[in-house]
Amino acid sequence: MSKIATPGAVRGTQDIYGEAEERFAQVVTSFDRIRKLYGFKGLILPAIEPTAVFARSLGETTDVVSKEMYSFADRGGDSITLRPEFTAGIARAYITGGWQQYAPMKVAAHGPLFRYERPQKGRYRQFHQIDAEIIGAAKPTADVELLVMADHLLDELGIKDGVTLNLNTLGDAESRDAWHAALLEYFGDHRGALSEDSLRRLETNPLRILDSKDPDDRGICHGAPKIDAFLSHAAQDFFGAVTAGLDAAGVAWQRNAQLVRGLDYYRHTAFEFITDRLGAQGTVLGGGRYDGLIEQLGGKPTPAVGWAAGIERLAMLLNQWDISPLAIAIVAEHPEREQACIKLTARFRKAGFCAEQFVSGSPRKRYDRARKASPAILIALDLRDGAATQSLNRLDGGYARGNEAEALFAAHDFA
Ligand code: ATP
Ligand code: MG
Repeated sequence: MSKIATPGAVRGTQDIYGEAEERFAQVVTSFDRIRKLYGFKGLILPAIEPTAVFARSLGETTDVVSKEMYSFADRGGDSITLRPEFTAGIARAYITGGWQQYAPMKVAAHGPLFRYERPQKGRYRQFHQIDAEIIGAAKPTADVELLVMADHLLDELGIKDGVTLNLNTLGDAESRDAWHAALLEYFGDHRGALSEDSLRRLETNPLRILDSKDPDDRGICHGAPKIDAFLSHAAQDFFGAVTAGLDAAGVAWQRNAQLVRGLDYYRHTAFEFITDRLGAQGTVLGGGRYDGLIEQLGGKPTPAVGWAAGIERLAMLLNQWDISPLAIAIVAEHPEREQACIKLTARFRKAGFCAEQFVSGSPRKRYDRARKASPAILIALDLRDGAATQSLNRLDGGYARGNEAEALFAAHDFA
């Protein structure tokens, strides 16, 4: 007989199960709770978009567009891309759906994203994000609201310690152009020491060099001109309002004048929540203002701001998460009590108890397996000398719904 070879999982993808899934689910559940508190409506969007949605908005010279996208021609010959991020797709939906009428629009999304990256801890080819955006809001109060929500979420997840909000401004178009020229000159002078990638960035977009992960590049970036020297008054005021809002809300932040984002569409506020607990993959949440994006995609000029966070990275940081402990184990010790066991288990589940039935394997072993599952309550159904018997045993004296379970058991019709 020939042995069948099992295809492996695609490199950079994960099968998430057990504790990893529980951590992952905790992040999503907490996000859903918090975003509702802040009035963000859920949004479910396609995982595939026309390639132009990303190519046009993220910037041709960004890592994502130049080397990380999963793009392919579909059977009809259209160029399709598996979404590498949420923002551009949300902007596309905003325009094509005519959602201007809802502005300012607060939306939240989560789901899988795809980037052809070198897989390592905290970096995958299919990964997942939670994402929050406010579209059609020009004022810095929107930036503040999003940052307060992000901070609140990290607090809710119990991972705020050791995570620092790094904040920067990229200025308005005027500030950015002046800074761009100064960076071009500075990096031009250091061209000999730049990595090959950054030499290319020097030609296409010198701002991108500031986002380089190459250690030598990082050293040179240290001495690069800072945006502050080029900020217009309007840009300074905007940034001042953001920091004042954060201070008022009690959100700790740290200025990081080196911070640029990996995508080209950002203006004014740019931020990352960074931890030292995840090695090189230390950015757990990042975002900023992208006032130019919707226009770039063919919509009316629309100010907007948002952030996204990697679910896997947040999940790795968790110290505690919800699990549903087994409340009630019900054992059919005698094969003839199996139907009664199924009926009683269903009854408890419908009453909102986490319950499990033990009706397979040798009758002797069923009881042992039920005990091993550490339920708060163990119920045994037996048949002795032709008579049905049932007993309830409270194993966890502290179980809050114990009396309720006993009452249900006492009132149950075992016939
Ligand atoms: P990095 O600098 O780590 O590559 P990025 O700037 O490309 O991150 P964004 O596009 O801003 O990241 O995405 C926001 C968040 O999504 C990141 O902070 C991170 O938590 C997560 N993320 C991004 N790429 C990946 C990936 N390949 N695998 C897992 N998580 C990721
Ligand atoms: Mg990246």
